[in-house]
Amino acid sequence: MSDKKSKVPKPEKKGAPKPATKATKVAAKKEVVPETFVDPSCSECSTRNCYRRDSRYPNFCLSEANQDGAAETKALYSGQSLDAKVARAAAEVEAEYYGRLTRLEETIIFALKLGAKKLGVASCVGFLDESTVYAKVARAAGLEVKTVGCKVGSIDKCEIGLPDHLKLSPGQQESCCNPALQAKVLNDWGADVNVSIGLCVGHDYLFTKHSQAPAVTLAVKDRVLGHNPMAAIYTHKFYYKRIMSLATFPKSRLEDQK
Ligand code: SF4
Repeated sequence: MSDKKSKVPKPEKKGAPKPATKATKVAAKKEVVPETFVDPSCSECSTRNCYRRDSRYPNFCLSEANQDGAAETKALYSGQSLDAKVARAAAEVEAEYYGRLTRLEETIIFALKLGAKKLGVASCVGFLDESTVYAKVARAAGLEVKTVGCKVGSIDKCEIGLPDHLKLSPGQQESCCNPALQAKVLNDWGADVNVSIGLCVGHDYLFTKHSQAPAVTLAVKDRVLGHNPMAAIYTHKFYYKRIMSLATFPKSRLEDQK
């Protein structure tokens, strides 16, 4: 027999305020926006009421402030345009395969849902081995594949205005990434969907901008964290405390050379 005392709830006194339960404490906490947020937006929202509408909107809510935009985008996603097809295909992948498919598998199913026959791959040159595997997977799913590496065109960094001392290996041919040409090659080939693998910050923008086909991302590059940039966020209270202040970011290697 257990020697623990049984927990019999005490009767509430009439008229007395109800004691704060865990749920009410959480609800009260959710309403607080810390004063340190000068211009709060969704990243400072605790209610996230736009998702289920089971709470309340904060006074800075971007849903409430953008009703016209919501109406416009609802129309955008409801028709037969490519944007509408992409929006629905992405939602269907989530609905049908939530928690079942890896992101790699999701990219394939997404492309098939859009009726794609030709799948373009914009790969970082440092990810070409991974892209070889990805191409095999996509071909096994019945897709034609063309992979374009980021150094396509072989343009030396100095030719686009970068000083030689900023090369990783000064004095040698060192080609710049060429995301616009990656996109052009895949546009000319007639890619129905493009998948980027490991493109750099900034080069990813240029590829997406110049890609005529819908461009989705399998992997982003993080040279420090094994291509898992979220690890810095998950560990920001301990190993990666440094990210909380620009002053504690690692210095430019050019400063080490001074
Ligand atoms: S749209 Fe409104 S409710 Fe949704 S996360 Fe942003 S601020 Fe919160």
